[in-house]
Formats: sequence, structure tokens, C-alpha cells
Amino acid sequence: MKTLDKPVKPGGVIGIIGGGQLGRMLAMAAARLGLKTCIYNDENHAPAFQVTPLQVAAAYDDRNMLTGFAEICDVITFEFENIPAATIEFLAGLKPVRPGAGALAMLQDRFTEKSFVTSLGLHTAPFAEVSTDGDARAAFAETGPGIIKTRRFGYDGKGQAKVSSADDAGRAMAAFKGAPCIYEGFIDFAFEASVVAARGADGAFAAYDPPENAHENHILRRSTVPGRLTKAQGDEAKAMARKIAEALDYVGVLAVELFVTKDGALLVNEIAPRVHNSGHWTIEACACSQFEQHIRAVAGWPLGDPTRHADAVMENIIGAEADAWESLARGGALHLYGKKEAKLGRKMGHVTRLKPKT
Ligand code: AMP
Repeated sequence: MKTLDKPVKPGGVIGIIGGGQLGRMLAMAAARLGLKTCIYNDENHAPAFQVTPLQVAAAYDDRNMLTGFAEICDVITFEFENIPAATIEFLAGLKPVRPGAGALAMLQDRFTEKSFVTSLGLHTAPFAEVSTDGDARAAFAETGPGIIKTRRFGYDGKGQAKVSSADDAGRAMAAFKGAPCIYEGFIDFAFEASVVAARGADGAFAAYDPPENAHENHILRRSTVPGRLTKAQGDEAKAMARKIAEALDYVGVLAVELFVTKDGALLVNEIAPRVHNSGHWTIEACACSQFEQHIRAVAGWPLGDPTRHADAVMENIIGAEADAWESLARGGALHLYGKKEAKLGRKMGHVTRLKPKT
């Protein structure tokens, strides 16, 4: 595994696997710091290709193209977690990869992820590994209503089924066609929240104020900061993120999605080893956005200041909502991702509205 001993100098190249909106906003933040990006994406049309000086369109397992990509990069990172682990391991043999292949492999699998979280003394929904119809029915009998989730490759509610009876559990396992799954007890939470934080190559840690998040149809609709979290809960969330980042020897930005229960406990739902949709408000409301922070961390630069100087509400623009771009442009800070087609459920952009800090 290659390591980065010195910071990447201005003019250097940050390689980013994935060309979606997160890659696009990372590329724009890197440009501001005088760093170039090379985006690697498996399709020709990618939002990030419109804003990067260097790009590669090839399959994620094309070793020739991956080798050529690595040659021009000083350090490599990624903007989504469902990259084949073999790709990241291959790249890690050629150039430094941040965050590392180990953290990614652990967090790609919901079972190893949740087992890791509980091993740190942090709490999650009750969960069990299930791989057969019998396992799933037994988990329902033991835990009560819940959700079956595929262990790998799920996002925005894909690969998930709600279970209110033993027969639901059987049906879900049949629908997932033998994919390894976990059974999670259903949490009747008060609301959802998240904490976006960064760890630098020198071990420095910086966390943003945790927003409250509202989801619709399993997709993030809105992040509000400050939300309903108390100051003590906010501090607890930041401390949880720090514990996780340190245990993984993590370098870069990560996000911890949380359930806040009615009695005030914070349960970890998921850890995203990347910049996160619930941190988009940091572009306008903080001196250093989550995107700049990630670039700083992976390039070995000092972390920036995560202090929030305004209250913010970030709303996603989903599917055909983007057709109203003219009226959306009249209020707030509008971001459109340059996507070709407004498919149902596709994130097309977001708007952040600021108010003076309360
Ligand atoms: P996930 O893909 O695991 O982040 O789940 C997507 C969304 O489904 C979450 O943001 C919650 O709104 C809901 N959800 C997931 N797991 C649970 C659970 N164990 N109990 C209640 N709601 C859940």
C-alpha cells in the first residue's frame, strides 16, 4: 500500500473515483485551492466531467485504465462507497488512497459496519445477520417489526424491505434472491440527524454542527441546522464521529447518520465514508465546506475551520422539481448538478437558504 509522506502541492492532482454531484462539488472545491482533479467514472456523461480538467471514462474494473489514471494522480479518493473493493485495493498498490481500502471494505457491508460500531460501545438498532428464509422469520420472531436490508450495495432505500410479519420476512428474502442481508429492528425515532466530520492526515479532527434530516421516500429531502438536537446531543454526536474516525485511522470526511430516539438516545444508522448530502449547507454556512475539507484532508493539508456562521436549511431538488429552476433561482443559493435527465427520485440539485445565526 502506498502512503503519502508529503502534502500534495498546489498544481497537484487529486484522483476521484465517481463522477456524480459529490465528485463535481469536490472538483470545484479543489480548483479553488489550486489543485486539479482527475475524475474516473464508468459512464461518459457525468456531472463532474463538466468541471474537471482531467477525466477518464472506463469500467471500474478496467485495470489498464485504472493504471493510467493512477499514474497522473498524486492521491486518490472516492465520492461513493459502492466501488468494487478489488478496484480500491488495486489502486492502493499504485498510489495513496484516502480514506483507506480497509475503512471502505468495513463500511461497505452493513453487518461488519454495525458490528464495528457496537464494538466501540456506540449503539445501533438491534440487528442480526440473515441469509435464509428461516433466519429472517426467526429474526422477526425475536425482534418484532423491522427492516431487512441487503448487506451490500444499498442506497436511498434500495435493497430494503419493511417487515411486519413472518410472511413479509419470507417474501423479502425471496425478493433479494439469496443476497446476504441483515434484519434490523424498526426504530420509532423522534427524528433523524447526522454528523459530518473530518480527520486530517496528522490526526486533527473537525466536526460540523449536526443537522436534523427529513427523508421522503427514503431520500433526503431537507437538512436543517440547527435542528432539534440539543447542545449536549450535538456534542455527543461529534464525539461519536471522532471515536469512529480514530478507530478507522480515517483520513478525509465521513458522515454518521443517526436516529434520535424519543428518550434522547443517539443510535448510529449508517456511516458514509465520503462527503454527504446532509453536509451541502456547509458550502454557504461555513468558512470551509465539507468538500474543501475533504480535499484538504486527502491532500495532507491542514484542516479548515468548520465553524458555522449562519443558520441554514438545505433542500434537495428531486426529479422533475428541477423544471422549476427559474423560480428556484429567485431564492437561496441554487446548485444544479448538470444531469441530463430528470428521472424519478434522481437528485438534480439543491437549494440552501441562510438566516442569521441564532
Ligand atoms: P438507510 O439506507 O439504512 O440509511 O435507510 C434509509 C432510511 O430508512 C433511513 O434514513 C430511515 O428513514 C429509514 N430506516 C432505516 N433503517 C431504519 C430502522 N431500523 N428503523 C426505522 N427507520 C429506518
